[in-house]
Amino acid sequence: MKSVVVASGKGGTGKTTMTAAFAHLAARRLRVTVADADVEASNLSLALHVRDLSCEAFPGGSKGAIDVDVCTGCGLCVRVCRFDAITRGPSGVYRIDPFACEGCGRCAFECPVGAAVMTPTTAGEACTGQSVTGPAAFGQLGPGEDLSGKLVTEVRRLAADAAERHHSDVLFIDGPPGIGCPLIAAVASTDLLVAVAEPTVSGAHDLERLADLAARLRLPMRVVLNKADLSEDGAARIRRLCVSRGLALLAEVPFEPTLAVLLETLAEGTEGISVERASGLTEVAKAWAAIERELGLGERAQESLIRG
Ligand code: SF4
Ligand code: SF4
Repeated sequence: MKSVVVASGKGGTGKTTMTAAFAHLAARRLRVTVADADVEASNLSLALHVRDLSCEAFPGGSKGAIDVDVCTGCGLCVRVCRFDAITRGPSGVYRIDPFACEGCGRCAFECPVGAAVMTPTTAGEACTGQSVTGPAAFGQLGPGEDLSGKLVTEVRRLAADAAERHHSDVLFIDGPPGIGCPLIAAVASTDLLVAVAEPTVSGAHDLERLADLAARLRLPMRVVLNKADLSEDGAARIRRLCVSRGLALLAEVPFEPTLAVLLETLAEGTEGISVERASGLTEVAKAWAAIERELGLGERAQESLIRG
């Protein structure tokens, strides 16, 4: 099985739409699994209509809690907490703010009567389901949680299991924004990184950072320029950057506000779509054809057709 990560330096570039488009195009001839590794803003499941959900809680670390029936109100925990997470309420009851608590355990260590304790928490959930293009796995991190890298790894594990059961030819991963730990977890052991860039100064900066990361990880990277017609200067900047960094620019997709809606029709083909509206899809299809060729998936497509 081949795996493709679609990433961008920030959210809102259209990478989820691009991932969904690739999955739709590939699913016409190949067995496809998708994973949403953008666990802080997971929405690939919406784009691909995931159903038959099965979710499990994803454990977080421990946080402090106070048993008000045992607490004597001595106030020691307030003084030792370095994160100002403990407060005394108007009624004299001591409480811990779970968003401020860093889980250091000092309050539980110092409390003279054992009223302050450490309790396990849930950081989010990891889910599997069935999308319109095949099996899907995704995660959702709870507010204020910072275990996104670990949750991405869990989503990858669930997706790999589903892909194996489904005998998938290709796994598409909608990557998290940025170049931090979650993205590094998302691209581990993958075959190709597709960077979705916007024709802006910050888009060029984000693309440079992704190119640096890909070079460090020795991961092949290709580029799709999205919303290409919104700025000729910006598009030219991205083109120059691709040339100077030796990055293949697979396609220039014009701004198409209804691209996500048009994706719905891809399962039946592009015949019913007008030429003007299909220009975005044509560019996406061009990018997918290049990826399919590069990863040798054209031969698998033939095998899939024979397998039925
Ligand atoms: S140190 Fe223990 S007993 Fe004292 S206020 Fe805090 S929780 Fe209550
Ligand atoms: S666990 Fe640490 S951060 Fe959390 S309330 Fe206790 S002392 Fe403060």
